[in-house]
Amino acid sequence: MRYVEIDAGAATLRDGPDPDVPPDFARVRVLACGICGTDLHLLRGMVLPPGAAYPVRPGHEVAGMVERVNGADAPVREGELVILHPIATCGRCAACRRGEDSRCERQRLLGLHDPGGLAELVAWPAARMLPAGGIAPAGAALLADAAATAHHALALAALAPGATLCVLGAGGLGTSVLEIARALDPTVRLGAVVRSEATAARVAADGVEVHRGLAGAARALRGRLGRADAVIDFSGAAAAPAEGAALLHRGGRLVLGSVLDESLELGAAAAFMTRELQVVGAYCSSLADLAAVIALAREGRLDPGRWVSHRLALADAGAALALARERPAGMIRAVVEPE
Ligand SMILES: [Zn+2]
Ligand SMILES: [Zn+2]
Repeated sequence: MRYVEIDAGAATLRDGPDPDVPPDFARVRVLACGICGTDLHLLRGMVLPPGAAYPVRPGHEVAGMVERVNGADAPVREGELVILHPIATCGRCAACRRGEDSRCERQRLLGLHDPGGLAELVAWPAARMLPAGGIAPAGAALLADAAATAHHALALAALAPGATLCVLGAGGLGTSVLEIARALDPTVRLGAVVRSEATAARVAADGVEVHRGLAGAARALRGRLGRADAVIDFSGAAAAPAEGAALLHRGGRLVLGSVLDESLELGAAAAFMTRELQVVGAYCSSLADLAAVIALAREGRLDPGRWVSHRLALADAGAALALARERPAGMIRAVVEPE
């Protein structure tokens, strides 16, 4: 089978044997795999978590057809469309027992520790797959990380009904946050800080108060929307969280979801103390988050197909990565379709 490998700053299409199917695993024929920021970080040679090493076989946003299941009581069946949850948990640590998959002490990540779905075939624990019949594969792939991670960040933001939420950055993840927030609570009041004019127009058309650029964003959005109960940052800009903190009510929550190696400059500690601001990191998601966004998509309350702005063949994975890096106007998400 063909697969993509990332090593020393280059992505290469390779040919190799089909993946084995160990006990309790299933092998999936990949129908769609999203390209996300983590893949770009791999291409830049990011420091890998313990247990992972270059070359890496990327792809952690995967939807496909189950081809083989090894195990009698697997939760998925052969011939079924499934979405892979990107974390394989140990199932035994304290976090796992609480259902906090993203905090598992011995987690393995698809497309990082283990070969990912930017390939024709992928093997993964069957218990970390959920049926997704009825959802078009390209959009279904984006539920795996973009939507489930957005859902997880929203859970950490813990909004009350009718609350005010501001999102920093409206690329793949920020867009998902805005749409899922609205799907979960039609009365939520939404603001966003974005970079490009095209993104501003797209987001404003959904009834979101938009400010372009970080400079003056807090002052402008406070004037139009009032202070926010929570701010979720998926902008990837180190200076964004400080601006986000300035948007918050007393007791408000700043949820940090960007993958950034730089240090954050959040401003005076006294502002956080006297205003009782909370800062929390949001990382990936749990299987329950993925189940929740699959349910929203099946009920027609969320359309992940809207986020697919570019579709490419597996042989063009390099071009897909370049698109994700350059983010041309109108870009939301690039999806690779190996078939
Ligand atoms: Zn991702
Ligand atoms: Zn665990």
